[in-house]
Amino acid sequence: MGSRIASSRVRVLRAEAHDGIAMSFSALRHRSMVLVELTDPSGLVGRGESWVNFPHWAPHERLATLREGVLPLLDGEDGDRVAAVQAKLVEALAPLGRQWGAPGPVFQAISAVDVALWDLRARRAGCSIADLGAGRVRDEIGVYASSLGPTGVAELAARCRDQGFTAVKVKLGFGRQIDDANLAAVRRVCGADVDVFADANQGWSLQEAIDAAPMLREHGVAWIEEPVRGDRLPDLERLHDRTGLTIATGENVYGRADFWSYVDSPAVAIVQPDLSKTGGLTEALAVCTLAGARGKRVAPHLYGGAAAFLATLQLAAMCPSVCVVEYDVRHNPLRDPLLHRPPHPVDGRLRLPAGPGLGVEFDTAALDKYSEPHS
Ligand SMILES: [Mg+2]
Repeated sequence: MGSRIASSRVRVLRAEAHDGIAMSFSALRHRSMVLVELTDPSGLVGRGESWVNFPHWAPHERLATLREGVLPLLDGEDGDRVAAVQAKLVEALAPLGRQWGAPGPVFQAISAVDVALWDLRARRAGCSIADLGAGRVRDEIGVYASSLGPTGVAELAARCRDQGFTAVKVKLGFGRQIDDANLAAVRRVCGADVDVFADANQGWSLQEAIDAAPMLREHGVAWIEEPVRGDRLPDLERLHDRTGLTIATGENVYGRADFWSYVDSPAVAIVQPDLSKTGGLTEALAVCTLAGARGKRVAPHLYGGAAAFLATLQLAAMCPSVCVVEYDVRHNPLRDPLLHRPPHPVDGRLRLPAGPGLGVEFDTAALDKYSEPHS
């Protein structure tokens, strides 16, 4: 059987983050990715990435979860039956995740395998993932610069403006004075025509979010992302009722079943599945379909390495409900340097790659260079 999975490998890639990236809850000091590589009998390799930004020891846990919990379940499976294999993994492992109290890590681990299966299947077919099924819905998409703040906002905003970005996202949740100054700096540097999004990374209480509404309006913030805890939909609904703010959320929601109440709620305008967290491309496609059916826009969450980047671009090529893609504007050795001919945005838009599988070839020497020894 040509679509058998002949072998699998999982490894950790890591690089120093030159400019420490602060979020309201923690700082990101390293760029890390856990990469799953599945090989078929002909030697073709499919790759997928598991999100491991937090906590900093997540890569160690993920290696064990993948090696001991997920990859053994691929024994004897037909790699071309992506949806069936993904469903089997979710069915087998989600109850374990609940018992463990760790649905996130389980879905994050499944995500890498799912994307690697899609990549491998498309490579075998000799086309990109987006060209496997119903075909592309677009050839390019708008991207926004992510993420500015809490320090050096004016400098980075100027760089984004000079690079032609037409939308930027600012990190909030660092105190009213700093948040207000950073939003003002972006408007001053980028002007009135740039779309400004803001992300509080769940850093506010409901009352703090209500109190922040006038500031967000004053600076023309187009959406506020995770203003309060991402897993408390009633709080998002109260916030929306009280303020009418345009709310984005979803990066901390796992699996399509849990997404449904968010997609269905009038409080959530922008749905943000992360395919390296929520169960892979299979799960993200389902969420995009749900969102589209409810007339919601999808802005996929994306803050990781090369495989998550490419897979998200394939998602954008396939789903009409995707309205914009997040683009990390900081130095990230685990994105562009891992790729031959990485796609770059021009005037705030990105051409969606159409090569085999994930669309762009990996530089295998670079993958080896950033791999942790013995991983
Ligand atoms: Mg966010």
